[in-house]
Amino acid sequence: MKTSNNWFIEHFDSGGTAFGLRIKQQLESHQTPYQHIEMWETDTFAYLMTIDGCTMVTSRDNFLYHEMMSHPVLFTHQRPETVVIIGGGDCGTLREVLRHPEVKHCYQIDIDEMVTRLSEKYFPELCESNQDPRAELLFIDGVKWMQERADESIDVIIVDSTDPVGPAEGLFEHPFFAHCLRTLKPGGIMVQQSESPLLHGDSIIKTMHQNMRDVGFSSTQTLTFPQPSYPSGWWSCTMAGKGVDVSQFRKTASQNKTFATLYYTADIHQSALQLPPFLAAQLKD
Ligand code: SAM
Repeated sequence: MKTSNNWFIEHFDSGGTAFGLRIKQQLESHQTPYQHIEMWETDTFAYLMTIDGCTMVTSRDNFLYHEMMSHPVLFTHQRPETVVIIGGGDCGTLREVLRHPEVKHCYQIDIDEMVTRLSEKYFPELCESNQDPRAELLFIDGVKWMQERADESIDVIIVDSTDPVGPAEGLFEHPFFAHCLRTLKPGGIMVQQSESPLLHGDSIIKTMHQNMRDVGFSSTQTLTFPQPSYPSGWWSCTMAGKGVDVSQFRKTASQNKTFATLYYTADIHQSALQLPPFLAAQLKD
């Protein structure tokens, strides 16, 4: 929400926390059939996109999230050729996925086309791979798409969605995880943004591990990383493997990667796999 003295403040009510950015002006506001999307110009983070009042993307710190939502899972998979991104309408994750030469096709599936159109206008750097012949952008419900997808047809699924409310709610539930398992090839891996380790360790993250294992994923692993513009400033993603141990990754390939990154490295990947004791204990109970 915008305050009187030119600040955008996101109140994270359930956590009793808030995050703010000083703003120059609001640029756009759109109520789509799915959500309320706003664009802001800020003093120090350039552009900010919010959805239903929650920070989604800023020009300044999106690299942390987009790199950690893509490179760990892609360097964990033995040969990621067919990738599906559900959510991710700002296209930052798509750009990172397509840096991997093994990737032959990447479906970018967001329910709301307006997110991508606004990202093309304000975050063109995140959309620079949208014309890559390997990219296929679809604007439909990812829950429905996954229900209709053929068995054993995908190598990696990346769920880059909003919080588990509204259109994204179904992306955090058993039936969706069961379809992900079914559509993954043997050795396939899914990764999902799993909220704040500090605020959600014993709730959303714990439940996600349980749901993934309940439907039959053989291995699950949470990685943590900084993300200043999300609640608590500390975020996570959780991987689940179909017959593959997701705590191990192709370290040499990661060390010899052919593309530049601003945050991800093989050592960062390795350290992100080490859960802090409080979180390990919460997930173990
Ligand atoms: N980085 C952000 C975060 O962690 O909150 C997510 C970025 S991305 C903008 C989130 C996207 O999820 C939104 O564009 C939204 O439209 C999309 N989304 C929500 N529910 C969806 C669904 N059922 N199918 C496909 N996309 C969905």
